[in-house]
Amino acid sequence: MRKKLMLEAPAKVNLFLAVGGRRPDGYHEVLTLLQAVELCDLIVVELSSSTRIELEVEGDVPRDEGNLCLRAARVFQERIGRGLGARIGLRKRIPVGAGLGGGSSDAAAVLLGLNLLLGEPLKREELEGAAAELGSDVPFFLRGGTAVAEGRGERVRGLSPAEEIWVLLLNPGFALSTADVYREFDRLNPSPLPPGILPRGLVRGLEKGDLEEVGDHIRNDLIEAALRLAPGLGSLLEKLGREGPGGMSGSGPTLFLLSRDEEALVRTGIKMAFPWSSVARFREKGVAPL
Ligand code: ATP
Repeated sequence: MRKKLMLEAPAKVNLFLAVGGRRPDGYHEVLTLLQAVELCDLIVVELSSSTRIELEVEGDVPRDEGNLCLRAARVFQERIGRGLGARIGLRKRIPVGAGLGGGSSDAAAVLLGLNLLLGEPLKREELEGAAAELGSDVPFFLRGGTAVAEGRGERVRGLSPAEEIWVLLLNPGFALSTADVYREFDRLNPSPLPPGILPRGLVRGLEKGDLEEVGDHIRNDLIEAALRLAPGLGSLLEKLGREGPGGMSGSGPTLFLLSRDEEALVRTGIKMAFPWSSVARFREKGVAPL
């Protein structure tokens, strides 16, 4: 049996994010369409003969128990009901606190990696349960591709893969805390409507690669709250809106622009001159061994 695995942990963009009211468990009711993209953190998971779980990190994230990789390993350990020795290596490439779900993806990669190395002691549903315990976006990353998530984000349904589409990711160089953005959302929307239903045109547009149709349905209910916390984002969003279909991902502040033409996105990225940018293709997989 293999003792070591390297995995890719992709980023996501939310092409649609409708936010409803706060639930008794403190989370918000959401309806979101998520798309995995080919911008990945790298995770190495290795079994060791000790009974400790160790973490090495390259990047600006916590190295202690606050790191989602370690939290994922602890949850996995509890679920299999026995001690575990493992060394985890994390190389961050996805910006942190960016609305791109990097931490959630890392957690999903650790769950999958440990499960594969140990001969799959957890069945698919148990793995999904562990993922949901770790965070709302974590179950999505076990699946990847194009998917709809409901509830607090843990009820995930895969859609047919989107046509070949490229995305330009633009990060203004600061982080936004998801909790802060939702708090601001609550202030601005004391009695929000339920999230409603997903527009058919969005799904159809993605299947056909018709970005005009996709663009008509892109939505993110957190934009207003994010703009309150980071007013400078408003003019950047406006500037981006003139370039084509796009929006803000998750709780921000990363903005995105969609195109069928990779080269055009590279040129737009240079022109927009954000502190960080990347052009990536839509990805059909979620977290996966290399
Ligand atoms: P989302 O789109 O799901 O709201 P995000 O992209 O805004 O997520 P992340 O980068 O996933 O945010 O993480 C945000 C917080 O989680 C940061 O405060 C960061 O310090 C902490 N964190 C813990 N572990 C990790 C990790 N492995 N990668 C990134 N952030 C992590």
